[in-house]
Amino acid sequence: MSKPMLCVTVTGETTAELRQKRDAVEDADVIEMRLDTVRDPAPAAALAGRRLPVIITCRPAWEGGSFTGSEDERKRILADALALGAEYVDLEWRARFDDLIARTGGRRIVLSSHDFHGVPIDLVARVHAMRSTGAEVIKLAATMSSLSDCVPLLELGAASGRRGSMILIGMGPYGAVTRILASRFESAWTYAGSVRDVGQLSAASLLHDYHFRSITASTDIYGVTGASVSHSVSPAMHNAAFRAARLDAVYVPLPAVSADDFMTFGRAIGLSGASVTIPFKVSLFDAVDEVYAVARRIGAINTVRVENGRWVGGNTDASGFLEPLQERIALNGLRVAVLGAGGAARAVVAALQPKCSVRVHARNRTKAEELAVQAPVEIGPWPPEPGSWDVLVNCTPVGMYPRVDATPLAAELLSGRYVYDLIYNPPVTRLMRDAAARGLQTLGGLEMLVAQAREQFEWWTGTKLRPAVMREAAQRRLAEFTHDEDHFVR
Ligand code: NAP
Repeated sequence: MSKPMLCVTVTGETTAELRQKRDAVEDADVIEMRLDTVRDPAPAAALAGRRLPVIITCRPAWEGGSFTGSEDERKRILADALALGAEYVDLEWRARFDDLIARTGGRRIVLSSHDFHGVPIDLVARVHAMRSTGAEVIKLAATMSSLSDCVPLLELGAASGRRGSMILIGMGPYGAVTRILASRFESAWTYAGSVRDVGQLSAASLLHDYHFRSITASTDIYGVTGASVSHSVSPAMHNAAFRAARLDAVYVPLPAVSADDFMTFGRAIGLSGASVTIPFKVSLFDAVDEVYAVARRIGAINTVRVENGRWVGGNTDASGFLEPLQERIALNGLRVAVLGAGGAARAVVAALQPKCSVRVHARNRTKAEELAVQAPVEIGPWPPEPGSWDVLVNCTPVGMYPRVDATPLAAELLSGRYVYDLIYNPPVTRLMRDAAARGLQTLGGLEMLVAQAREQFEWWTGTKLRPAVMREAAQRRLAEFTHDEDHFVR
C-alpha cells in the first residue's frame, strides 16, 4: 500500500512571496499555495518555475479562508490554475463549481469540505455526494471537540478502501493524530505548515519528531494523554527511543476530554500503550482492566499498556523518582520532608516508605490529610521547621518556568544534606541555587523525568536503552521551549 505524501502549505502577502516560500520548501511531495492569502493572486506567476507538484487553493472567507473578493473572480483564478496545468486545484464542495470539475473529468481536482463547528452529522452521505462529482481527491476537514471525534474519520478511511483518493483531517489539538497518523486514516497526504489555528504541525516536526515517512498501517502506536499535552517533552523522548531501538513504533500527543474519551479512541486505533498525565492519573486508574501493585499503592497510574485487548495500568513515577536519589545517598533511616500533597507527592511518599521517615508539608493541611489516608505518613507544619530533615523534596510547581524566581521555601529556612526539586524546567531552580549557596547538595527533576520514561519504554517494548538517548532528546526539546510562554506537562 502506498504511503501518504507530505504536503506543505505556504501563505504570503504577495504572489512573489508565495513563490519564494514555495521554492524554499524542502522534503515535501506536494506544495499547497494559498492564493487567498495574497493581495495579488496570480496563478501563472504562482505556477511559474515550480520544481514540485502544487495544489492551488483560493479559500473564500465563508470556508475559513482569506479571500473576500467575488465568487466570479475566485472561480476565474481557479479556472486559470487548472488551464495552466496546476497538478491540483482545490475547489470547495459548497462552491458548486461543477463545471470546473467537468472540464477535466474530475482529474486534478481536490474537492474540499471544512467544518469549523464539529463533525458533520451527514459525514458518510457527504462523502458519497462529494465522490459522485467525480473529483480525483476528496478532502474532508472537521474540527474535533474531543479525541474520540477522530473515530468516525478513522472508520471512514477504513471503509474507503482506496488510498490516494481521500484526505481526512481533524482540525484543532484533538485532531493532531489525524495529521501524524495519516496512513491510519488512509489519507492521500497530510498538510503541514504554519496554519496553526487549525492545528497544522510544521513539516520539520512531522518528519523529525514523528518520523512521518516511516509510519505505516502496521506501526505500533503509543502516546501521551492528558488535558493538554501539546508542550509535552514525552513525544521527543519516546520517539528518539523508538528510533534508537529501531522499533516500528510512534508516540503521539493524545489530548482528551476524559479517560473514557481517550480509551474510546485508543481502542479504535489499536493503541499499544500510553503515558498518562494530569488530570487522568486517577480516572484511568479506575477505568483500566488491571492495575499493578505499585500503582495501587500510589492510587494513580502514569502508564498504560494494552496487552491482547486488556488495559493494564502501572506507575513509573515512584521508581523514576528513586533511581537518581539512590545513586547519590543511602536511603535507610533518612528523614525526608516532602513539600506539596499532589500527585507527585503521592508517588514520592510511596517510593520512600518504609525505608525513610517521611513527613508531608502542604500549605493546605486537608490535602496532606487526604494523602495520609492512602499512605500512612506523618503530616508536618507549613513551612517545615529547619533542621527537621536530611532530604527536602519539592513536589510543588513553585519555581517552574516561567515563574523561575519563585521558591517554595525561603533560603534561610534551608538545611539538611540534599534538596531534590522535581521541577525540570528550568534544570536548576531558584530553590536549588539557594540550597547550593548554603552548601547543600542538589538534584533537579530531569533525571526523574528520564528515568520514569525509560521504565515506561522498557515495560512497553522489553528493550533496554542507553540512558543518554532519552536525556538528550528531553534536553533538546526543553531548549526549544525556553522562550515559550505556555507551561509544560509531561
Ligand atoms: P499537583 O498534583 O497539582 O500538586 C501540586 C502540589 O503543590 C499541591 O499540593 C499544591 O497545593 C502545591 N502547591 C501549588 N502551589 C503552591 C504554592 N504556591 N505554595 C505551596 N504549595 C503549592 O502537581 P504534581 O503532579 O504533584 O506536580 C508537582 C510538580 O512536580 C510539578 O512541578 C511537576 O512538573 C513536577 N513533577 C515532575 C516530575 C518529573 O518527572 N521530574 C514528575 C511529576 C511531577 P494546593 O493543593 O494547595 O494547590
